[in-house]
Amino acid sequence: MSSIHILPAQLADQIAAGEVVERPASVVKELLENSVDAGATQIEIHMEAGGTRYIQVRDNGSGIAREDLELAVARHATSKINCLDDLEGIGSLGFRGEALASIASVSRFKITSALAGEEAWCYVSGEALKPAPHPQGTSVEVADLFFNTPARRKFLKTERTELMRIEDMFKRIALSHMDIGFVFSHNKKVMHRYAACNTPGEREARVVDICGPAFMEQALPVFEERGDLSLEGWVGLPTFSRSQPDLQYVFVNGRWIRDKVISHAVRQAYQDVLYHGRHPALVLYLKLPPTLVDVNVHPTKHEVRFRESGQVHSFVQSVVTNIIAQTRPGGREQREPVATSGSSFAGSHKPAVQDYFRLFNSGLESQVQDVSGTPYATTRENPLGQTAPLRPAEDVEIETQETEIPPMGYALAQLKGVYILAENKDGLVLVDMHAAHERITYERMKQDWKAGDLDSQPLLVPEVIHLSEREADLAEQSEEMFERLGFSLDRVGPQQVSVKRVPALLKQPEIEPLIRDVLADFKQHGRTKRIENHIDEIMGNMACHNSVRANRRLSLDEMNALLRDMENTERSDQCNHGRPTWRQISLSDLDKLFLRGR
Ligand code: ADP
Ligand code: MG
Repeated sequence: MSSIHILPAQLADQIAAGEVVERPASVVKELLENSVDAGATQIEIHMEAGGTRYIQVRDNGSGIAREDLELAVARHATSKINCLDDLEGIGSLGFRGEALASIASVSRFKITSALAGEEAWCYVSGEALKPAPHPQGTSVEVADLFFNTPARRKFLKTERTELMRIEDMFKRIALSHMDIGFVFSHNKKVMHRYAACNTPGEREARVVDICGPAFMEQALPVFEERGDLSLEGWVGLPTFSRSQPDLQYVFVNGRWIRDKVISHAVRQAYQDVLYHGRHPALVLYLKLPPTLVDVNVHPTKHEVRFRESGQVHSFVQSVVTNIIAQTRPGGREQREPVATSGSSFAGSHKPAVQDYFRLFNSGLESQVQDVSGTPYATTRENPLGQTAPLRPAEDVEIETQETEIPPMGYALAQLKGVYILAENKDGLVLVDMHAAHERITYERMKQDWKAGDLDSQPLLVPEVIHLSEREADLAEQSEEMFERLGFSLDRVGPQQVSVKRVPALLKQPEIEPLIRDVLADFKQHGRTKRIENHIDEIMGNMACHNSVRANRRLSLDEMNALLRDMENTERSDQCNHGRPTWRQISLSDLDKLFLRGR
C-alpha cells in the first residue's frame, strides 16, 4: 500500500489557515478587507471575548449570489482575479481566495448575503442553503475560533490583548478607508463609531481619534504628486518623536504595509532632526499604478515589492525632507486646533498647561540651588562674533504693527545664561540658545560643504592634543578629509598632533573633544567614501562642540541676531538631536497661569 496520500480538504484548509489566520485579529482583517472589496460604505464589527468566542462583520456591499455562496467558502475561490496577468495589477485587497476557506476550517462559520433587490441566503459549512433575513450586503459570523485546533488555541493571549490587536488592525483599515463608516463593538459595547468622511476636516477628525489629538497638533500635512506617484498624509514634527515606531502608518494603494524601502526613506528624511533611537510619527498614503507594485509577496499581504524601489525611495525621501526643512519659525502656517482635540493649545510649540507648571516649578528648584552656587559669568568672549554692549531690555522698541514683527519677535532678556526671552505678536518666546545655535551652525556647515567652501580660521596658539598612537596614525592618514572639513593638523610626535586651523563656523570650539569626536567618526565610518556618506552626521557632531554654552551673556543685539538666524535656517525648530529650540507661551497661556479671565 502506498504511504503517500492526498490530505482531506478540511485538513489541508486547516494547514493553510496557519498562514492566514493566526489570531482573532487576522480574521477581522480578512473579513474587513472582503467588505471593502465588496464596495461597502458601512461596516459593522461586533465581537465577544476578544474575538475568540464570536466575531461578526456585517457590510452593505455588493453581496454574494445564492449560487456563489457555498463556492465563496471553498479554497482558491475568488471573484477578484482570473489569470496570471490580473496578478500583475491588483486593485483589490484580496485575491488569493483562501481567507474564507481558512477561517471556516478553524471555527463555527456562517455567511449570510443578499444581492441588491434579492432574497438573502445563509450558508453554514456542510449544511444546505437556507433563506434568512438580511438587507443587501453580507454578514460573516465566526464563533469559537480554533475550537478544533487546540494547538492554535493555546497561543491565544488574554481577551484584552486579543482585543488590542483587533483594534490595531481596525485602526489601519479605518485610516485607509475614510469613505467608509464603521461601528466597532466589543461585548455589546460600542468602542468606535465613525461616520463616512466627506471633508478634509472629517478625515482629520478620524486621524485625531485614532492617532490622538497631540499628533494632529504636531503634524505637518503632506501632499505631493510626481508623475505616477503620489504621497499624502501627515508627518509628525521632529519634536513629537517617539521611543517606539508605534505611530507609523504607511499605506500603499489603500493597503497597510510594513516596508523597508519606505521606512528607510523616512528615516533618512528625519536623520538629522531626531535623536538616535527616536522614531517619527506619521500617517502616509502612497499611491502608484498597481502594475508597479507586487502585493503577492506574503499570505498576509503586509509586505510588498516595488518594481522601481529606487524611484519610490527617492520620491518619499525628498517629499518628507522638504517638509521637515520647513520646521523653522515662520516656516509654515501654524495649524488651527482640530475640533475634537481636548487640548486648548493650538500651535506645535505649545506644551500642555501641566507642562508650564512643571517648567515653572523646575525653574524655582534651580533658583534655590543657585543661591549657594557660583556666580554667573558676565560678558566674556562674544560667541557670535559681535561686540555690542549689554543693554537693558527697555532699550528695545517693540513694533506695534503686527505685520512688522518677525515670527520670533525681539529679545527682551536672557535667563540664567541659558534661555533667551523674546516678545513676538503672540506673547512670550523662550529659546534654548545653545540648541538653536547648534542647529544654525550645522545647517550653515552643510550648505558650505555642498558649495565646497567650508572656511577655516587659524588658532592664535596651535593646540597640541594627546592621542593614542593609532589615533594619531588615523589623524595623519585622514589629513585630506580634515582639510576639507576646515581643519589643519600636524603630527608633532608619536602620540601628538597639533591643531593649527579649525572650521570658521565653529566660533569657539572645544578643540580637544572636537578632534576626538571627528576621529571617532572617521574610525567608525572607515574608508573615505563612507565618511562622505556620513558627512551630515559628522558635521552635526562638530556643531555640537560649538561655543554658545550655558552661562554665556549675550547682548540684545546678539540675541536678536540669533532669532533672525533661526527664522532663516531650515529645520531650526529643533536642535540636531531633535529637542525643541524654542517654545511659544501666548498671552492667553499666561493669563491661564494667573487665572486671569479676559
Ligand atoms: P479573496 O478575498 O482573496 O477573493 P476570500 O476567501 O476572502 O478570497 O473570499 C472569497 C470570495 O468571496 C471573494 O472573492 C468574494 O467574491 C466573496 N466575498 C467574500 N466576502 C465578501 C463580502 N463581504 N461581500 C461580497 N463578496 C464577498
Ligand atoms: Mg479576502
